Amino acid sequence: MAAAAHVLVLPWPLQGHINCMLHFATGLAGAGVHVTFLHTEHNLRRLARRAPSSADASPRLRFLSIPDGLPDDHPRSVDGLLELAASMLATATGEYRSLLSSLSSASDAVVGGVPPVTCVVADGLMAWAIDIAEELGVPALAFRTASACSFLAYLSVPELLESGELPFPASGGGGGLDEQVRGVPGMEGFLRRRDLPIQCRRRGDAMLRTLVDLTVHSRKARALILNTAATLEHAALAHIAPHMRDVFAIGPLQVMHPTPSGSLWREDDGCMAWLDAQADRSVVYVSLGSLAVISHEQLAEFLSGLVAAGYPFLWVLRPDSMVAASQNQDNTTPQAAIRAAAGNNKARIVAWAPQRDVLRHRAVGCFLTHAGWNSTLEVVVEGVPMVCWPFFADHQINSRFVGAVWGNGLDMKDVCERDVVERTVREAMESDEIRRSAEALAQQVKRDIAAGGSSATEFQRLVGFIRELST
Ligand code: UDP
Repeated sequence: MAAAAHVLVLPWPLQGHINCMLHFATGLAGAGVHVTFLHTEHNLRRLARRAPSSADASPRLRFLSIPDGLPDDHPRSVDGLLELAASMLATATGEYRSLLSSLSSASDAVVGGVPPVTCVVADGLMAWAIDIAEELGVPALAFRTASACSFLAYLSVPELLESGELPFPASGGGGGLDEQVRGVPGMEGFLRRRDLPIQCRRRGDAMLRTLVDLTVHSRKARALILNTAATLEHAALAHIAPHMRDVFAIGPLQVMHPTPSGSLWREDDGCMAWLDAQADRSVVYVSLGSLAVISHEQLAEFLSGLVAAGYPFLWVLRPDSMVAASQNQDNTTPQAAIRAAAGNNKARIVAWAPQRDVLRHRAVGCFLTHAGWNSTLEVVVEGVPMVCWPFFADHQINSRFVGAVWGNGLDMKDVCERDVVERTVREAMESDEIRRSAEALAQQVKRDIAAGGSSATEFQRLVGFIRELST
């Protein structure tokens, strides 16, 4: 008889990673696998304050935590990511090792109906979690929460360096950012320098080296799991496969295995009633995800373009969305500036929205997004046109796929000038062609996740693979 499978799921402790891996954990539990989802103590406390009851979680899914080593009031924002990574390495690794050692020990046997941990699925950004698991004799898989196309771009960086396509001139002096890139397989016809991860624009960037090393490290894992669908990224997946021990493309998980929200911020449901009062497809939904920050100059430019476009808008402005104002700036809050520019009837501002519900709402006509991968998948399945204003990580390459490959939206890459914002938003709201492409793409992706579709089949294969590793 096969041993009961029990997977320890360990996300990188940021919102986009938690959301995606929580859907994955829910899917595993639904397939009869025991799952321990390992948060950081800080995030588990935040989630408990936000939604004290976990009554709707599956009985096979439990939550534990380890410290991340940072004080509770540390912002853990985009500027603090290196500190978070260093602190996790210093503190969480030891805690994780002893927890996994005890949870996987056969002598611990079945405690309260929960069998020992037989397998780890760790965020690929935490290579140490994969190495430690294997050292302890627990097979480990890598989960990357970004797009396959960005994974392939990082994987191709060593060849780009060898062939001389990297480094390329800095953008300041007209550095040829529109030049085509030939060295990322399958993207030769449309990928430009400006679509590569933003760190490629800086010579000898330490973060780029780290991300490339982490990507290459996934070869060591028993398999690579990606939250994507063949319809969206079959070519990238085919080029990644020969480099990995196995690859599973099992998304979009947010539709296949929806969970009660894993939001670290309290969702402002009031915006749903506001949307109810708007006409069909009349509203621009603006959200730049959980990490991106904008300057006051960018806000002013972007806002005037958005207002000039003339549609009502719902804007997610997190408390930490803005670069700190310099001393000579006036004290007008961004919220007040937006209200003043838009007039109260035309704009709704929230600190955090129930995004998947918003994107499903009939009143939303387009999504102005940073093109983070979760947001991209969430809007793709709703068939709603996108306007992409990419910032970092996989945003640059995702937005190129939106504008040049899938045709479900437009890419404002590197520009947020008033006229461009106005024109792009208008086009995304009015274009029948973009709307048709977005709807067709949604239908194709829905076929991937339906029974017998590629993502559904791959998910079943993955569950079988995990059970096999657990015997
Ligand atoms: N999100 C949300 N409410 C908001 C803004 C974002 O629930 O007001 C969620 C969104 O649905 C997505 C995640 O936060 O699942 C953001 O992940 P993404 O990969 O798009 O971007 P990141 O935050 O990692 O930059």
